Amino acid sequence: MREDIHPDQVRRLAPKEIFQFNCHLGVPCFNECCQDLELALTPYDVIRLSKNLSLSANDFLNNYCLIEQDDEKNIPQVYLGMIDDGRASCPFVTPDGCQVYADRPGACRTYPLGRAAFKTQYNAINDFHVLLSEPHCQGFSEQKSQDAEQWITTQGLPEYNAANDALLDLLYHPQMKVGLSPAQADVFLQTLYRQDEFRNLVMAKDFRSHTMPTPDELSTMAMDNTTLLNFAIRWLRHELFNE
Ligand code: SF4
Ligand code: SF4
Repeated sequence: MREDIHPDQVRRLAPKEIFQFNCHLGVPCFNECCQDLELALTPYDVIRLSKNLSLSANDFLNNYCLIEQDDEKNIPQVYLGMIDDGRASCPFVTPDGCQVYADRPGACRTYPLGRAAFKTQYNAINDFHVLLSEPHCQGFSEQKSQDAEQWITTQGLPEYNAANDALLDLLYHPQMKVGLSPAQADVFLQTLYRQDEFRNLVMAKDFRSHTMPTPDELSTMAMDNTTLLNFAIRWLRHELFNE
């Protein structure tokens, strides 16, 4: 999302509400939205993008990302760095569209919607969507109608949302409101985002910890970063909050 979006441009969608929108190579504003972004990346975004680029997560973070921590809570935020071309373009935008389209970040897939997800008191996940109507985006003049659920499905978002929802217990833990120590912030980043380093740690023969992977997880996580991420979340909850 652009930094300068105005609250008047954001509207909550009712369940099943239909909105008219399409985006394709033929729209006059093609690629206009792929610049000047504050594009926060989730751990699952990093898994997909680094795989697409045949990079380790570490190399992807070092080459493409900005890592920020707010002074008060120390919680690391990972952003995709824009390039210095006078337009602050995304490093992956090309005249033909997105170079990493098959593995583009969840926020790019969700646009022009935004999703808010939260846990209920019964531990179920609830969400709602907002519609962002930015003046540069002409996709709203296109003749295609859908509701949020249909948009989510066609954009390949269910697996992104599932991976991000798995983080909710961690991100909205009461302790996170207090913040992390610098050492905890490092562990947070290493565990969730520098996945190759965490894999090496867990798969080492002498790895012993308060939380151990099941044999099934251990055999799968060598190749599968999603399994690794799910274990990482469990491990981190114990490491940070002793749960
Ligand atoms: S990752 Fe792709 S879709 Fe997202 S901003 Fe960059 S070029 Fe656009
Ligand atoms: S229609 Fe909107 S989302 Fe599609 S390229 Fe144009 S600005 Fe971007």
